[in-house]
Amino acid sequence: MRHVATESDYRNRRIAMVQSQVSARGVRDARVLEALSSVPREQFVPPSLAEVAYEDRALGIGMGQTISQPYVVAWMTEALSIRTEHSILEIGTGTGYQTAILAKLARVVYTVERIEALATEARERLNRLGISNVAFKTGDGSLGWESHAPFDRIIVTAAAPAIASQLVDQLSVGGRLVIPTGSHTHQVLTTLENHRDGVVETSGIPVRFVKLIGAKGFPS
Ligand code: SAM
Repeated sequence: MRHVATESDYRNRRIAMVQSQVSARGVRDARVLEALSSVPREQFVPPSLAEVAYEDRALGIGMGQTISQPYVVAWMTEALSIRTEHSILEIGTGTGYQTAILAKLARVVYTVERIEALATEARERLNRLGISNVAFKTGDGSLGWESHAPFDRIIVTAAAPAIASQLVDQLSVGGRLVIPTGSHTHQVLTTLENHRDGVVETSGIPVRFVKLIGAKGFPS
């Protein structure tokens, strides 16, 4: 008879994932590791993919979109260097998995998703999990969410051709932005720090994200 994974099986897989895919590759921030160890990724993927939720890869979530590889979620979260008092803007809610990780680390998360069905499902999922410090919006997030700016941190979880000046303008002084930039097929994770006397950009790991589609993204 086929074994159906229990909550405890998933917990064990989650701990193994954090050790073998995330810690082993150099992510050290204890709060990030703790957040990844506590969010049930199997509840964020389509039921038919729950069995493979902790594999070392991105997974399809429908509508041509993906949930990112756990290591990439961890890398971006660590690069943001989040403190408990922070207000965060996330562009590209998707399943809400990254949102849930951010919500565990920060005071409040503002998240924008252009596909209504995904935004609705993510909102319901986070409600079920009792995560309440998240504000959702459906629409083009490529220009940010001006009415809630400034943000201490901004994360873009879709590939952008460049960093939009509107996003930099919505960062607080001392703020930080992490975004995959490049072509629609290959990008690098770029971290931008907003200092009083200018911005500093650093290039990180190569990645492949789905396209950011919108005014400051790629055409659909
Ligand atoms: N971080 C998500 C998760 O944990 O499930 C995965 C994000 S997925 C790689 C990228 C998401 O960005 C997709 O859901 C896509 O619809 C969304 N997206 C693309 N362009 C967007 C835009 N202009 N504004 C808001 N969301 C956008």
